[in-house]
Amino acid sequence: MICYLCRSTIEDGQYYFDGHEVQVCKPCFMESRRCFICRFPGQKLVDVQGLGLECEFCRENLVGEESDLENIIHPFFSYLGQFGHTTMPHPRFIWCDLAELRELQSGVERPPEEFIDDFLRYCYPVYHRAGGYHLLRRMTKETFVVYTIVQFASADIAERFELNELAGNSPFHTLARGWCHWVGYEASKRLGYDLERRQLRKWPELGAQGEFERWEKMAHFKKPPEMVEFLNANLNALARKHLDSQRNNQSVGNGPR
Ligand SMILES: [Zn+2]
Ligand SMILES: [Zn+2]
Repeated sequence: MICYLCRSTIEDGQYYFDGHEVQVCKPCFMESRRCFICRFPGQKLVDVQGLGLECEFCRENLVGEESDLENIIHPFFSYLGQFGHTTMPHPRFIWCDLAELRELQSGVERPPEEFIDDFLRYCYPVYHRAGGYHLLRRMTKETFVVYTIVQFASADIAERFELNELAGNSPFHTLARGWCHWVGYEASKRLGYDLERRQLRKWPELGAQGEFERWEKMAHFKKPPEMVEFLNANLNALARKHLDSQRNNQSVGNGPR
């Protein structure tokens, strides 16, 4: 076996790193900087501003600023329709640095992420707020598809209830976010995107996925149309209870003291 980087022979029994159908010897692996997406120590790493390094293998296959995002996501509009969601035909995508996207989703202080899976532990790589979809400058197509599905569902619910986004801790918010997360999770399952399915099952931490597990359990004995009915009945009731009081408090807060 020959090391992809230094071309020296990797002897039998020696540690090596395997990826993209090539091998890298241990000394090279230890010394090299690595790709943000796949952790591979590539030969021609390029620094993507506000994100990290990108290797020559990933570069060919990533969704980025030059991609036709609308075209990639359009086939999934009918999938979202099965779950009662309408989608804007021309979504507005807003490219973001890691730090900006993290800031949008959580005020929690964290060390900067070295690799995308560190980031996905705490944040979504696509995030809807106020009609715009904020997203990382690079990700795989699979990642883009499943997380954008989650956020399309979020945007639809937010719009229905005249909210900017679904962030919040009330039972309305956690039920709604759990649903959206489940819709994306279900897509990853149907598409056979196993990595994304596993990631969505355990991440993000910090509660962004709300009551995901409740929906996942329900999916074992209810069909999507029944689940949609359940969702809408519950969201309407919870909105009356939790959103109206929130709005009233806001208007009281603006009045004279
Ligand atoms: Zn080497
Ligand atoms: Zn890579």
